[in-house]
Amino acid sequence: MAKARVGLYEAKGDSLVRTHRSCPKCGPGTFLAEHKDRRSCGRCGYSESKSPPPSRGKGAKSA
Ligand SMILES: [Zn+2]
Repeated sequence: MAKARVGLYEAKGDSLVRTHRSCPKCGPGTFLAEHKDRRSCGRCGYSESKSPPPSRGKGAKSA
């Protein structure tokens, strides 16, 4: 039943990069589960939707 807690960090060069966000309610010790379009905390039930990537910028020139 115990989930492996590996994979929360990824070594990039000399520094560790967090691959999962921590829960803003539970603190930095609890990580949010990654879903397709959202993240959720299995501890307190907090969930947030992933903001879509900004697809504007190019092609918006006024002609
Ligand atoms: Zn939480």
